[in-house]
Amino acid sequence: MNTLSADEVATTRLRAVERVLGDLSGVPIVGEPVAIRRKSRDYFWYSPILNEQLAGKVADAVVAPRHEEDVVRIAAACARHGVPLTPRGAGTGNYGQCVPMEGGVVIDMIGMTKIISHAPGMVRVEAGARMVDIDASLAASGWELRMHPSTKRTATIGGFVAGGSGGVGSITYGGLREPGNILGARVVTLEREPRVLDLSADAAQKINRAYGTTGIITRLDMPLAPKWDWVDLVISFTDYATAVQVGHEIALADGIVKKLVSACEAPLPAHFAGIADKVADGASVLLCMIAKPFIPYFKALIAERGAVVHEEDFDESPGHAPIYEYAWNHTTLNVLKTDRSVTYLQCLFPHDRLAESVRETSALFGDEQMQHLEFIRFGGRLTASALPVIRCSTAPRINDMIAAYEARGVFVANPHVITLEDGSRHKRADADQLGFKHDVDPQGLLNPGKMRTFTPKSDTV
Ligand SMILES: Cc1cc2nc3c(=O)[nH]c(=O)nc-3n(C[C@H](O)[C@H](O)[C@H](O)COP(=O)(O)OP(=O)(O)OC[C@H]3O[C@@H](n4cnc5c(N)ncnc54)[C@H](O)[C@@H]3O)c2cc1C
Repeated sequence: MNTLSADEVATTRLRAVERVLGDLSGVPIVGEPVAIRRKSRDYFWYSPILNEQLAGKVADAVVAPRHEEDVVRIAAACARHGVPLTPRGAGTGNYGQCVPMEGGVVIDMIGMTKIISHAPGMVRVEAGARMVDIDASLAASGWELRMHPSTKRTATIGGFVAGGSGGVGSITYGGLREPGNILGARVVTLEREPRVLDLSADAAQKINRAYGTTGIITRLDMPLAPKWDWVDLVISFTDYATAVQVGHEIALADGIVKKLVSACEAPLPAHFAGIADKVADGASVLLCMIAKPFIPYFKALIAERGAVVHEEDFDESPGHAPIYEYAWNHTTLNVLKTDRSVTYLQCLFPHDRLAESVRETSALFGDEQMQHLEFIRFGGRLTASALPVIRCSTAPRINDMIAAYEARGVFVANPHVITLEDGSRHKRADADQLGFKHDVDPQGLLNPGKMRTFTPKSDTV
């Protein structure tokens, strides 16, 4: 059997990409090599392992659809010429989720930004809309998105649904995977004659955190929450165990309306540029977003155990960092700004052994780890996910730490791998998503390399 050399494969693909672009007259195309390189990256550099593995992975072309009709034409052209197509929102994903592993075309969704309609409790938007813009457009209605990642001011709603897991608001509503947190999605299939499918209710889970491998999302229906006047607060504690204990109590206090409770272990706060000077050396903090009417009850709960060192009305206008930009994976980013030797893990603590598990693993890793918990609801129970910042950079040590967590009943979603199976807690693709992929992307052209267990059926290639 004749096998093609890498150069021959690349030349054949480039010719096919040229044919794709030839079929797309009128669709905006990004031509400059620097822009193409930029649009082929995300925040995978958080991981020393991925930083090495993904160096040099670049698309051959980037196209920027203006509307769903453009998306259909792009999908048809890629299917016709057998060219890989990788969807991209704002490129803030952490695991090379939108890195085109096999080159081909990147479809940049940030031109599709319409807020199509909203009704009490629900909004319909195009996938490239930034979450900050969605909330701004809803402000007068008294509603807002139930949850958003800490990258809200940059990231798109399509990228969040296809690549994210939850975030600010998950303390009340759980993660994106909880039934009801995505109401509907419209997707374009990757076929010579693409179909446009409306997925509603549970069916919308077929595209949730599938890294864009199961269709190009053009539109989403998202549920909303009542909009409160939020207050950003930082509470300082002399020891981390007390911060965790008080954070847990606040999270459990159902009458106190809240959107964020993060527990960051010392010396993490020393890296939070806007608030570091308010926190004593060696102190740990809780970062909280609390609805204004409940502040007195919140403060009563803290009592004498911690000190409020920062309190201001929520403000996410340009030039001002809201408190959520120190939380979730911004915590790691704030450390990386001054110390590129650290990286992180993503853990889910058992709800019934939360404090003990945190204590146990902190004792195990000592100074090698700075713990960072995010209180969330998960399957109806209150627990904490964690993004500990770790001082280690070799694959064997990272894997040892993951194994040590898992041996103690803490789930780890490995952020140092690119496939959705290896990065999931269960180490497998959701069966529904795998079956759906055969239906919507029979040639396996959508973001190839990210769904490891998918192999195209031979009669479709
Ligand atoms: C500092 C920092 C903090 C973060 N905090 C959080 C957090 O709190 N919670 C969280 O869940 N994540 C977090 N993330 C990860 C990421 O920011 C979010 O998941 C974000 O929502 C991704 O949106 P994006 O527009 O940047 O998507 P991208 O990174 O561009 O894409 C993400 C994935 O979605 C796919 N995709 C994008 N658009 C579409 C589309 N229209 N159709 C099909 N597939 C598509 C891409 O192929 C890719 O696989 C964080 C990352 C950083 C760097």
